Amino acid sequence: MCGIVAYIGPREAYPVILKGLKRLEYRGYDSAGVALLNSGLKVFKKKGKVAELEENTIGKDLHAHIGIGHTRWATHGEPNDRNAHPHSSNSGKLAMIHNGIIENYAQLKQELVRKGYHFKSDTDTEVLLNFIEDIKINNKCPLEEAVRIALKRIVGAYVIVLIDQDNPDTLIAARKGSPLVIGIGKNEHFLASDASPIIEYTKEVVYVNDYEIAIIKADELILKNLGNERQTPFITKLDMELAAIEKGGYDHFMLKEIFEQPTTIYDCLRGRLDAENGTITMSGIQKYADQIVNAHRIVMVACGTSWHAGLVAEYIFEELCRINVEVEYASEFRYRNPVINKGDVIIAISQSGETADTLVAIENAKSKGAIILGVVNVVGSSIARVSNAGAYTHAGPEIGVASTKAFTAQLAVLTMIALKIGYEKGTLPHDRYMQLARELEAIPEKVTALLQQHEHIKQLAEKYRDARDFLYLGRGYNFPVALEGALKLKEISYIHAEGYPAAEMKHGPIALVDETLPVVFIATKDSYHEKVISNMQEIKARKGKVIAVINEGDEQSIKLADDVIIVPEADEILLPMLSVIPLQLLAYYIGVSKELDVDKPRNLAKSVTVE
Ligand code: GLU
Repeated sequence: MCGIVAYIGPREAYPVILKGLKRLEYRGYDSAGVALLNSGLKVFKKKGKVAELEENTIGKDLHAHIGIGHTRWATHGEPNDRNAHPHSSNSGKLAMIHNGIIENYAQLKQELVRKGYHFKSDTDTEVLLNFIEDIKINNKCPLEEAVRIALKRIVGAYVIVLIDQDNPDTLIAARKGSPLVIGIGKNEHFLASDASPIIEYTKEVVYVNDYEIAIIKADELILKNLGNERQTPFITKLDMELAAIEKGGYDHFMLKEIFEQPTTIYDCLRGRLDAENGTITMSGIQKYADQIVNAHRIVMVACGTSWHAGLVAEYIFEELCRINVEVEYASEFRYRNPVINKGDVIIAISQSGETADTLVAIENAKSKGAIILGVVNVVGSSIARVSNAGAYTHAGPEIGVASTKAFTAQLAVLTMIALKIGYEKGTLPHDRYMQLARELEAIPEKVTALLQQHEHIKQLAEKYRDARDFLYLGRGYNFPVALEGALKLKEISYIHAEGYPAAEMKHGPIALVDETLPVVFIATKDSYHEKVISNMQEIKARKGKVIAVINEGDEQSIKLADDVIIVPEADEILLPMLSVIPLQLLAYYIGVSKELDVDKPRNLAKSVTVE
């Protein structure tokens, strides 16, 4: 959460920063701001989206070759102009942007207030900035040293970038817990929360590590640890094209990403799954295959949509590998003193690879001897680096805040791992393994066919858009899909929705059912089909409106349901990759018909780097 951008070099800094902020807006859009250093320090900031900042700076003197910018997802202090970043220090000489949370800010603030410091905002960020300034003044030391001393007392997570009026040719940055990428150009440097603001200028980047401080001039990048020792920057080549982060003719990133799924699932399988020869090549996993085969327990740790992918994987792993699987919310798992035995396998699932709770959860588990596998989309991200091994989902940049293509790619990766382990362990017989491999390979084509129904789903969206609540019901592999469908609807359309195991609804939610309640059944042909039909009857008997996601020729459902959406048939293990897609589209079209900003739903942000 929070996007940060900074630039130093021969170009005009403002347009580079502004464009970068637009690319990072998915990370938060409570406010936006820039600080530019020319003859003096100028700060422009505004509540709302980057476009509002842009409008507000029209006609202003924005000339500068060094600057920092921020798009905020508020944690401390409400979203308003005052709390927007960059913040400036009491002397007015320093300006800083921050992504993260300073947990001990209240105590530091008290100390500073006693010393006579005053604060213009309610943020933790302004406290850290003045704490740094206080050290700089008292110790009469360079900013770099003041930052180093300050950070030793900081509890929390941060990426910070500072500019100093007395040192107009240097940016100082540091990180712990939140992401920071530095792009290396010719006599210029670009800083950002992810690579998207950088790729059009350079493909050479350095991912800054935790507890590192970067001292950046136009023609020089120095990295040091908190002990003031020089670190060698490790330069990586970006493997990403500009087109991947643009809308490409679609109205929204979310729609583009839904429609990309045949390609993204294919990309995820490509080079790994060879159904004809029955091989699955995943080098990261192979290294730990024996340990996974012998594991007594796998724990999936994730948040949000990734947690739903973990739930589907629980069913798949237990079925194919006969290993006990638990699925944990990272935010609970990390604080619960969980029992972790040496040799337990933890699978961390995260689109961004920066999810703060998941990251800390796996660091804890790793220190207790667990093997960590990361299923992550963003290459080089923190979770990928902390993990012992893992597999990237290769879904490409996901910019819509509500996750879509990352979910199906996570399912594809987790299914491949389960197939591989089940087969090596001997719990998955050869014939079934071959059949599942072939069916998995056919999924992208089926997704293409399924997407052709978008007009029909759009009509359903119009029909049901005014409902106040929705219920999503499914069983077995489709139960997590019900949860995911409800989550998408909540995120995008602000309609209250709940996902439930279809049978469990009798224990409470059925009380909500009347003729105004749409109930989405995920009722594809699987081992639970008959049972789900009975649940559908129970809803119809109470006059609920049933929208059923079914397979072709399911006369029983067609008779019962008010509306149906047909998805192609597949083995039940693979069905979630198909049945979730109409639910993504339904949420999208309802959001659009209510004229909501589906790519940037209120209060949300992608890449949750705060706990
Ligand atoms: N804690 C800072 C604020 O509320 C930064 C928030 C963030 O990174 O999400 O302004």
